Amino acid sequence: MELNAMYAKLGVSPAVYEFGEKVLKDLRERFDAIDQVAEYNQAKVLHAMQKNRVNATHFAATTGYGYDDEGRDNLERVYADVFHTEAALVRPQITCGTHALAVALSANLLPGDELLSPVGAPYDTLEEVIGIRPSKCSLKEYGVTYAQADLKADGTFDYDAIREKINERTKLITIQRSKGYATRPTFSVTQIGELIAFCKSIKPDVKIMVDNCYGEFVETIEPSDMGADMIVGSLIKNPGGGLAPIGGYICGTKECVERCAYRLSAPGLGQEVGANLGIMPSFYQGLFLSPTVVSGALKGAIFAANIYEKLGFACVPNATESRHDIIQAVTLGSREAMVAFCRGIQAAAPVDSYVTPEPWAMPGYDSDVIMAAGAFIQGSSIELSADGPIREPYAVYFQGGLTWYHAKLGILMSLQKLVEAGIVKLGE
Ligand SMILES: *Cc1c(COP(=O)(O)O)cnc(C)c1O
Repeated sequence: MELNAMYAKLGVSPAVYEFGEKVLKDLRERFDAIDQVAEYNQAKVLHAMQKNRVNATHFAATTGYGYDDEGRDNLERVYADVFHTEAALVRPQITCGTHALAVALSANLLPGDELLSPVGAPYDTLEEVIGIRPSKCSLKEYGVTYAQADLKADGTFDYDAIREKINERTKLITIQRSKGYATRPTFSVTQIGELIAFCKSIKPDVKIMVDNCYGEFVETIEPSDMGADMIVGSLIKNPGGGLAPIGGYICGTKECVERCAYRLSAPGLGQEVGANLGIMPSFYQGLFLSPTVVSGALKGAIFAANIYEKLGFACVPNATESRHDIIQAVTLGSREAMVAFCRGIQAAAPVDSYVTPEPWAMPGYDSDVIMAAGAFIQGSSIELSADGPIREPYAVYFQGGLTWYHAKLGILMSLQKLVEAGIVKLGE
C-alpha cells in the first residue's frame, strides 16, 4: 500500500500530505544534525549504564522503607554520570517537575536568604512555590525573599540589573532554560553557561539551579556541564522517554543533592528511604530511549514551524533558528483556528483519538484554555500534546511526540482540520 493511501485512511487528504512532503524536502540537513545529537546522547547514556554495570537485579521491586534499594541507588549513579554531576536524586516520590523544583529550592534556602531569578518571571506554578502569588507553605511564608531581574527587550540578559540585584543575602539563583509558556527565547546551554559564570564572578559561593524542563538531550551538553550546582526536571517530560509513569530528578553537587534528599524524605533519613514499587524498568528504559524520543519531538517542532510559517503564521522559534527545547509556539490568530489545530492533534493520538477538545475554564487562567492530548501517561508532555489560552494572540503551544512519525501525523492532521474549517487554503 502506498504511504499517501495510508495517510488518507488516517484522515489526511492528498493535498495536505503533498504540502507536508514539499516542506520536508528542505529539512533533511536539519534532521541529520538532530540525529547526530541523538547519536551522541545515546552513547552518553549507554556509557553511564555500562559504567554502572546495570543488570537485571536493578529492575527488582522494593516496598516499605526501601532500605538498600540497589536499583534506585544505581539509577541515581547513572543519572549523575549522564549529567556529569557528583550526585543525583531520581525518584517516583518526586511527583512532578514543580515538586522537584520546590524540593530543590526549599532544601537550599533558609529564613533570611534571598532567591534571585535573573531571567524574568519563572514558570507559572513556581509563583506559588516562591510566594509571588500568596500561597500556603510558600518560600515567602518561611522568610525567604525573592528578587527578579527582567530580560532586556531583545530577550538577552540584563547584566547591569543582575549585578545590582545580587546582594549579601542572595543564596540561590534560579535559571529557567525553556521559555515554557512565555514569549521570550529559550536559552542555549552556552548562554546559560555565560550567565552562570557572570553570577559566580560577582558572588563565587552563590548556588545556581537550572530548571531544565523540556531541555534534556536537545543539545550534547547540559547546564550541569557549565557550572550549575543543580539541574532539575520532570520524568514525564524528556528524560523519562515516555515510559516513566511518574517522577522527577535533581542532579548536582553532593552538598545540594543531600539537602534535597533530607527535604524530600526527612532529616536523618535522606536518600536511604524510598521504595521503588517496581517501576525501575521504566525509569532505566525510559532514560535509554530518551535521546531518540527527544530527537523525534524536535523534528516535529521544526516540521510544524516550517509548515505554519509557510502558511503565514508567526512561529516561536521560527522555521530556521536553532533549538534549545522541544516547545513550538504557533500564533494562529483566532479562537476557531486554535480549536481546529487542537482537534487535529487529538485526532492523531493513539489514545482518546475520538475525543473532541473544547475550550474550557481552568483554575489559574483568566481565559478559557484548550488542550489536546491523547497520552499513555496522563499529562505526559513528552507525548504529543498542544494547548493554549483562548486570548490574544491566540497561540498554541505544541510539544512532544514519542516518535517522529507520530509528531508528523499530528501536524498534518492539525493542518487538515484548519483546511476543513476553511481557515487555510493550500492552492498555489
Ligand atoms: C513543565 C515545567 C515545569 C513544571 O513541571 P510539572 O511537571 O508540570 O509540574 C516547570 N518549569 C518548566 C520550564 C516546565 O516546562
